[in-house]
Amino acid sequence: MIIDIDRLPSEGLKVCRDFEFFNVELVEENAVFCEPVHAEISVRKVGEEILIKGRVRTCLSFVCSRCLLPFEFPIDSSFDLVSFHEELDAGKDQLNKDDLNKCFYYTRKIDLKEIVLEQLNLTFPVKPLCSEDCQGICPICGKIIKKGECLCMENESDPRLKKLKIFLRDKR
Ligand SMILES: [Zn+2]
Ligand SMILES: [Zn+2]
Repeated sequence: MIIDIDRLPSEGLKVCRDFEFFNVELVEENAVFCEPVHAEISVRKVGEEILIKGRVRTCLSFVCSRCLLPFEFPIDSSFDLVSFHEELDAGKDQLNKDDLNKCFYYTRKIDLKEIVLEQLNLTFPVKPLCSEDCQGICPICGKIIKKGECLCMENESDPRLKKLKIFLRDKR
C-alpha cells in the first residue's frame, strides 16, 4: 500500500486494514503467521516531516529456542516514526540512539506495507521462549523436560548434575 506524500490531505490519512505477508518475510526463522496483521496507521505531513503513528496486531507461531516446541506469540505493538526527506537532512550522520525511530524517505512515496513488516519484525524477542522458565531439553536423556518425559532430575539428587543442567540450558 503506497502513500503518495504529495497527495496527503492536510488533515492526514488514517488507514485501518489487514496486511498479508509470507512467512519467509519474517526475520525469525520458523515463525509462522496464525492470522493476518491488523494495522491502524495515521500518516501526517508537517512541513517536510512525515509523522507515521500506528499499531500492529497479530499472532505468530514461534519455535521455542530451548525446547524446540512451537508456541503462539501474540503481538500488539505501537510505533511512532518521523520520516524526513533525505536531501533535507544534512545532519543524518550525527544521529544517535535516541533517533532510532527516525527514518528517511528517498522518493515521494511511502510503502505502508513495508513499514508494517519492519515494525513487526522489530517486536520479536532475541530468543523466543514458550515460557520464561522453560526447562528445555534434558542434556542427559534428550527428552523435553516440560512434558514430564524426563525423570533424570528426580532420579538423580547429585547437586553437580543439577548445576550441569542449568549450565547447558543457559548456553542455548
Ligand atoms: Zn520451551
Ligand atoms: Zn532427562
